[in-house]
Amino acid sequence: MTARVLVVDDVPANVKLLEARLSAEYFDVLTAHSGAEALALCERSECDIVLLDVMMPDMDGFQVCRKLKNNPVTHHIPVVMVTALDQPSDRVAGLEAGADDFLTKPVSDVALIARVRSLTRLKMMTDELRMRALTSKEIGIESPEREAMTETGRGGRLLMVDDRRSSYDRIMTVLEAEHRIDIETDPNNALFRAAEGNYECVIVSLGLQDFDGLRLCSQIRSLDRTRNMPILAIADGEDGSRLARGLEIGINDYIIRPVDKNELLARVRTQVRRKRYTERLRDNVQLSIEAAITDALTGLYNRRYMESHLGSLVEQSAARGKPITVLVLDIDFFKAVNDGHGHDAGDDVLREFAIRVRKSIRGIDLACRYGGEEFVIVMPETDMAVAATVAERLRRRIATEPFPIAQGTKSLEVTISIGLASLETADDNAASVLKRADQALYRAKRDGRNRVVADAA
Ligand code: GH3
Ligand code: MG
Ligand code: MG
Repeated sequence: MTARVLVVDDVPANVKLLEARLSAEYFDVLTAHSGAEALALCERSECDIVLLDVMMPDMDGFQVCRKLKNNPVTHHIPVVMVTALDQPSDRVAGLEAGADDFLTKPVSDVALIARVRSLTRLKMMTDELRMRALTSKEIGIESPEREAMTETGRGGRLLMVDDRRSSYDRIMTVLEAEHRIDIETDPNNALFRAAEGNYECVIVSLGLQDFDGLRLCSQIRSLDRTRNMPILAIADGEDGSRLARGLEIGINDYIIRPVDKNELLARVRTQVRRKRYTERLRDNVQLSIEAAITDALTGLYNRRYMESHLGSLVEQSAARGKPITVLVLDIDFFKAVNDGHGHDAGDDVLREFAIRVRKSIRGIDLACRYGGEEFVIVMPETDMAVAATVAERLRRRIATEPFPIAQGTKSLEVTISIGLASLETADDNAASVLKRADQALYRAKRDGRNRVVADAA
């Protein structure tokens, strides 16, 4: 998968130079000669990463960066500032503007390719999450970009791995001003600490005395629990090939000693911010998955989920010669609840009903809202006799204890009818079992409601 890199510089020769080097590494290169042009290209989401010159007439790189990061449409595109001024204050200004990184002119090949690779790799991952998360807008989940834009990246939980007191004392003092930071002086213990500690960023000194800091970085990357943990490396000098390997392994960023205080703070904030953004995306994806399979009112599975699972559950039982029983439940005279006490009271009853259902079944049973006031419970590895006992217990639990409505100021008597059917013959399938359970329910209704009727196949 080749990434599309947008090179922005007002000097055509600079554009040509970067374009040639990136093309040689098989990146797809787009170019722009002004900030306005760059913003337009990004807005049309035509690139995966932006290399942005700082000094440009009209709008300088910092302004362009700030605009990109303050727009929900372009917020997620990584920005690397390219600056001729190797001043810590410029780096900090770039990071403050929301840049993900910066490169200093003349740009070294190793640094250029390593940074572009590692940032595009990261973007591919967040793109994947974004693609799945965006669909959740339809179900009313807040977009993570909005929160991300106001995220300061302060108050992070950090772990510092360093075994030299003179080095970590200073770094900790700097970071303590904005974050909560723990120190681990034993590199052998660091992986465990990182996995257990619920940190938002791990800072690893590459100048450990008897331990290869890059090895630790690679261990953090390969362990499931720490795979997504941002790693900021602290290097002793501009050791290009070692840093390139570090970026290859998956460290997210590095800083070179002597550590500039403001640069350190800015880089850590960037990592914490990015971590919080991807966590939000992940939560958002999780929520959309849950929303797609659950019924919003009751929290039970929805009909779609039940229908897609019932078939395989029935087939599995048939193949293994195990019983399986399906219950169809319907609240009696539910229309009267709505008519007499309002739709909200009806909703209260449905919610309370779901709670009682959950209390009455086991973890492997599948309870779903089939529609309106009709529910289905699938009980794998359960024969008719056992299921009938559970159904009867549930029926009683509903009928004997009135349902609170109107914030508990009133209560209502509710009853249900239940029909059940088990997998019987060789040519039974999900549809036929469900149909027989439904017919049993119909008999329960006809015979007076508030009762359990088993199909007599
Ligand atoms: P029976 O004993 O024969 O099942 O009678 P019933 O009144 O329960 O059955 P009917 O199918 O006639 O009415 C079901 C009612 O359930 C009608 C509908 O307005 C109501 N209903 C369906 N979904 C919801 C819901 O989400 N909330 C509320 N409050 N009511 C709902
Ligand atoms: Mg009903
Ligand atoms: Mg009904």
